[in-house]
Amino acid sequence: MVAVPVTLAPRRPADARATDGMPASGPLVDTHGRVHRDLRISLTDRCSLRCTYCMPEQGNEWLARTSILSTDEIVRVARVAAAAGITTFRLTGGEPLLRPDIVDVVRRLSEVESPDGPVQLAMTTNGIRLGEYLPDLIAAGLNRLNISIDTLDRDRFRELTRRDRLGDVLDGIAAAAASGLRPLKLNAVAMRGVNDDELVDLVEFAIEVGAELRFIEQMPLDAGHTWSRAHMVTREEILETLSQRWGVTALPGRGGAPAERFVLDGGPATVGVIASVTAPFCGNCDRMRLTADGQLRNCLFSTTEYDLLPILRSDAGDAGVERMLRSCVFGKLPGHAIDDPSFLQPARGMNAIGG
Ligand code: SAM
Ligand code: SF4
Repeated sequence: MVAVPVTLAPRRPADARATDGMPASGPLVDTHGRVHRDLRISLTDRCSLRCTYCMPEQGNEWLARTSILSTDEIVRVARVAAAAGITTFRLTGGEPLLRPDIVDVVRRLSEVESPDGPVQLAMTTNGIRLGEYLPDLIAAGLNRLNISIDTLDRDRFRELTRRDRLGDVLDGIAAAAASGLRPLKLNAVAMRGVNDDELVDLVEFAIEVGAELRFIEQMPLDAGHTWSRAHMVTREEILETLSQRWGVTALPGRGGAPAERFVLDGGPATVGVIASVTAPFCGNCDRMRLTADGQLRNCLFSTTEYDLLPILRSDAGDAGVERMLRSCVFGKLPGHAIDDPSFLQPARGMNAIGG
């Protein structure tokens, strides 16, 4: 397996960047005309699992506790972002449910207003302890949930996540299914020789619980930097496997969504495929990210971060926060270029970037 080269993410202040022509007001637009509406907020880099495609088994370098954004700081960034046109916040991590004040974070973010009304608040979680938190999360204003599950086999799950917790994840999914929170989505990373013989079973499981399964192509974001293009399962292979069980028809109207959606046997069941590697959706990307330690990122694969932390902890005011949001978006490249030989994998693993 050929490892992807690594680069450290330079952190530079906003005034060190080319910002000629950057709009000082209006929506968060980049130099390619893409308007940004979606902010992914990572609440922690810690996790209750150790998925092989995301984190190392041991020796992870955790973010310093003093650099983790407080809830007041997160809400402040969210408020400024919403005023500039962000309409959806997605809470992620690491595992967002490990944040001790998660219900308070949800409640406060759900109260943030954009010029068009309240924002949508979504969360991506591994599902562990979801049953315990869900009633309070819904009461606090959570609108949507994505739960990750890559296998229904206990031994495989233990190997893949290095934790024997499939039962806890299934309990979390059952709680979400019973809650009536819809649409409910289940995420699965398709992996050769790991779960590629389970794709149909995963879709059937999702249909049973009233959710949509979304397959994700494995991306070069693992902390061990062992990803290889040759080893990953492609969109085409996923669709070929599903076609052997169902009639698979593409749904039109994807917009800026990362997942292509397909109807199975004429419906109502659907499945999604997020083909970030083989069919990237960069041209319509409207997402940006805030890491748990206050770094803004304009792409999952970016090797540059925009350091908001000193601005939040100085007297720069909301104008300084807005300027950093704008320069982060303005500096966005047209695409991630995973297939380019010069591609460099970001130094941080997915758990620290925020998936
Ligand atoms: N811990 C939560 C979870 O697993 O849902 C939230 C964070 S996790 C980083 C967010 C999503 O990223 C999960 O659905 C996970 O499967 C996906 N993910 C992590 N590493 C990935 C990789 N290398 N390629 C593709 N997807 C990945
Ligand atoms: Fe944790 Fe999610 Fe990464 Fe798995 S994918 S190790 S659950 S952050």
